[in-house]
Amino acid sequence: MSKEINILYVVAEAVPFAKTGGLADVAGALPQTVKELGHEIRIMMPKYSTFSERKYKVHDVIRLKDIMIPLGDTCISTSVKSAFITSSKVKVQVYFLANDKLYSRDGLYVNPHTKKDYADNDERFIFLCKGTLETLKKLGWKPDIIHCNDWQTGLIPAYLKTVYRDDPFFKKTKTIYTIHNLAYQGIFPKESFNKTGLPKEIFTPEGVEFYGKFNFMKAGIVYADIVNTVSEKYAQEIRTKEEFGCGLEKLLEKRKKDLYGIVNGVDYSVWNPAADNLIPEKYSITNFSKKAENKKALLQKFGMKYDENIPVIGIISRLADQKGFDLIGDIIADLMKLDLQMVVLGTGEKKYHELFQKIHNKYPDKFGVQLGFNEALAHLIEAGSDMFLMPSKYEPCGLNQIYSLKYGTVPIVRATGGLEDTIENIKPETGSGTGFKFTKYDDAELLKTIKKAIKLYQNKKIWVKIMKNGMAKDFSWETSAKKYLALYKKLLKDKD
Ligand code: ADP
Repeated sequence: MSKEINILYVVAEAVPFAKTGGLADVAGALPQTVKELGHEIRIMMPKYSTFSERKYKVHDVIRLKDIMIPLGDTCISTSVKSAFITSSKVKVQVYFLANDKLYSRDGLYVNPHTKKDYADNDERFIFLCKGTLETLKKLGWKPDIIHCNDWQTGLIPAYLKTVYRDDPFFKKTKTIYTIHNLAYQGIFPKESFNKTGLPKEIFTPEGVEFYGKFNFMKAGIVYADIVNTVSEKYAQEIRTKEEFGCGLEKLLEKRKKDLYGIVNGVDYSVWNPAADNLIPEKYSITNFSKKAENKKALLQKFGMKYDENIPVIGIISRLADQKGFDLIGDIIADLMKLDLQMVVLGTGEKKYHELFQKIHNKYPDKFGVQLGFNEALAHLIEAGSDMFLMPSKYEPCGLNQIYSLKYGTVPIVRATGGLEDTIENIKPETGSGTGFKFTKYDDAELLKTIKKAIKLYQNKKIWVKIMKNGMAKDFSWETSAKKYLALYKKLLKDKD
């Protein structure tokens, strides 16, 4: 048997403790599957006030003041707490870096009241990076690999390659850095760099400097031993196209040899209509007549009328430019002339809140809107909709389109990133494929594709075939986790 690998998975959010998007779904699921495959993996994340300590039996492992983290001119103490993510097969230990002043807030990164980023996000995540390494030393647990995720953890590889380079504790520690979304890089003024304790020599364009500013994600990409992102297509897009690379395309091209793409999986213990306790009626590929009951419940929730012949198109999303909703704004008058209904669940930028609210006010019977974050409603939309729309400008992986497949809810997507990799274009003549794809980021293309979908919806025989094509797909984490394991092994072998 091959040697057990010890991995620390560092992340800013993880289900069930804190979630703003797909990152949390990944962090809550991938480590469990890696553990099921026989390796030791633990998670490190901030201790937010987003969950009940009692419910998850959170306990102290390191008391306050036992770890002091230098931050600029001051030193901040932290305690470390712990709990477990448990599945039917394994328990994954989660360490929480706890500092109420930094992490006990109403939002994770953005103040939900002002909709502005917290002004001290630099300090909050310098603290996470530095605190992670100091905690490992205090615990005396030496992982072979530290798996970092997104900008919030980008400084860890930089610390290991500089400040901790000669520290015997980390002599054998390797890093992998996963980019879940390149558009969020954690860019701060130069002054933030001075708070890190990193050597001045790395504040250069070859290091962590980004046009005079300090870039956390760049640090991760420059200093990690290997880098990956969450689909093969996105891995290629970000190093070859300016609009995807967000200013880091040249650096990524330079690191091409160490840049991989692994598509995310799905936790089918959470996203499966046959076992979903958050929907009124369960169903499966062998019996999905009950899907109609979920559609009725969904429309009732949105105060809309049910008609089995009118397709419902669902949207669940962060409301950000990335997601392509400006295209909907451009074609709404034409869209609302069609025989369809739409339901939207989302939260994010004010302009999209206003846009969707305005559309709802004008077409209350056809366009339902819930502006907020609502886990249960997200499940009901997956179960009750006939189609699921993701017209993203770019999409590193995207999870909802993959969830939709399992729920027999046919995705309509723009062919970019993970949407391209996970959805097979439908051929109406034969009923092959799993979803409707369009390529050009263009409102007329989107309208044409939606029209194609609602036309085909009227052909029940073909439609059922397409639903079943999707429901039969298997995107369980095991396949992707095995790819991560192969990367972990390669990392330990090649970078020794
Ligand atoms: P991203 O990570 O870019 O937000 P993904 O498609 O990868 O996009 O993942 C989004 C995740 O967040 C899914 O689990 C989705 O159901 C969930 N989600 C997004 N917005 C909401 C919302 N308003 N309410 C409930 N869940 C949401």
